[in-house]
Amino acid sequence: MKVAIYPGSFDPVTYGHIDIIERAAKLFDKLIVLVLTNPVKPPTFSPNERVDFLKRSLSRQLSKVDNNIVIDEHSGLFIDYFKNCKANVIVKGLRVMSDFEYEFQMALINRDMFHEAETVFLTANVASMFLSSSAVKQIAMFGGDVSAYVSPKIVDDIKMKAKEFTARRVLEQK
Ligand code: ADP
Repeated sequence: MKVAIYPGSFDPVTYGHIDIIERAAKLFDKLIVLVLTNPVKPPTFSPNERVDFLKRSLSRQLSKVDNNIVIDEHSGLFIDYFKNCKANVIVKGLRVMSDFEYEFQMALINRDMFHEAETVFLTANVASMFLSSSAVKQIAMFGGDVSAYVSPKIVDDIKMKAKEFTARRVLEQK
């Protein structure tokens, strides 16, 4: 059985991530979508919120009888999780050249720490090449419409958090 892990911040999950998840789930027997917390880049949404957003955005896929997607969360070193669950492959999405340098380095580091950790890159869909969680958050913070970029099931939560964040920033700057 081939088990793949798709790790990321998913802060929040976008249609770009969902595209990679759906395509990767077809390639492997089991796909674990793993919400990680990067201490260098503190997230806007808590791990629980990010897991919940993924579950809601993927509710159609998760409710299928032949569903092979699992959502999980890990706050430690990624490679430890990879080893513990005896996974075979790390899945990553590649958007533009700027993703390449970072993802290439991560793939090499992971393989250096654990020789069996192979990374498979899926190229982004042309339609979501430009899409990132940070762009979604920035648009929402300026009161813009993000409904083309994230599932309708999480749009309101993103708007609410963006409002809270903007209000807090205004107070801090006073
Ligand atoms: P970001 O904060 O940049 O959106 P994440 O850490 O959540 O990124 O990304 C997890 C993985 O998903 C990475 O491999 C990243 O390259 C990929 N990814 C992010 N957005 C997209 C997208 N729009 N299309 C394809 N892959 C993506």
